[in-house]
Amino acid sequence: MTPLTPEAKKALSARVQFYRDLGIHSFYRRSEAPVAEAHTPEVESTMAKSSSAAKPAPVKVKSLPVLNDLSKTAALDAIRADIGDCTRCRLSKERNQIVFGTGNMDADIMFVGEGPGADEDEQGLPFVGRGGQLLNNMINAMGIKREDVYIANVVKCRPPGNRTPERDECDTCSPFLMQQIEVVKPKIIVALGAVAAKNLLGLNDSMANLRGQIYDFKNTNLAVTYHPAYLLRDPRQKAEAWKDLQMVMKHLGMKVPAGPKNG
Ligand code: SF4
Repeated sequence: MTPLTPEAKKALSARVQFYRDLGIHSFYRRSEAPVAEAHTPEVESTMAKSSSAAKPAPVKVKSLPVLNDLSKTAALDAIRADIGDCTRCRLSKERNQIVFGTGNMDADIMFVGEGPGADEDEQGLPFVGRGGQLLNNMINAMGIKREDVYIANVVKCRPPGNRTPERDECDTCSPFLMQQIEVVKPKIIVALGAVAAKNLLGLNDSMANLRGQIYDFKNTNLAVTYHPAYLLRDPRQKAEAWKDLQMVMKHLGMKVPAGPKNG
């Protein structure tokens, strides 16, 4: 391994802190991605910028004016068709199938996670594993059903070993998510976890700071809560997640139930 320069050490330290904020404490170093080019906090704050180490290929997506001429069903079908058997980023290599997103295309609430896990990769649907069951419970606790909401992820292919999707992978895939948001037009997006929140908002901040507020986001609103997988690891945070969902319900003028009856 090449010795790190002081600047690279500083950048690496910032990146380690970024992932610690996400609850990730194990790291590996890829030989093809020099650490000297690791993200700085400034760069992390603008997630749309590309990494020079792994510049994503330009993403070709259909223009929204064309999609706007279509029904929601046809528009979502067009986005899916545009994704095709996508090989635009390295996540295509080990996935079994693309997990596009699912749910009510007229939903008021759209949940967005970071990416598919093993169960999702196998079934082709988002949030169907243990985390998905917990998300269903969270949705039910709001007095609605999974069929009432739309669910998608920032990246549509499972990162190997369930690692966190890298920034260039998020940059490459997220235009499709943005199109899904444009078509569904939810009244609010609930970002599940720091990866989704940071990618959508372009902010590099702690979950403690990201939660607890309603953001203006692309002609709609956005709130941040914990990812169900994190809540499975630390169930004590479920009460905090419930506060986030109560905030969302109040924002939408929904009746706020007393609280979830089960985990
Ligand atoms: S994660 Fe997104 S951009 Fe990457 S291969 Fe899958 S569909 Fe394509």
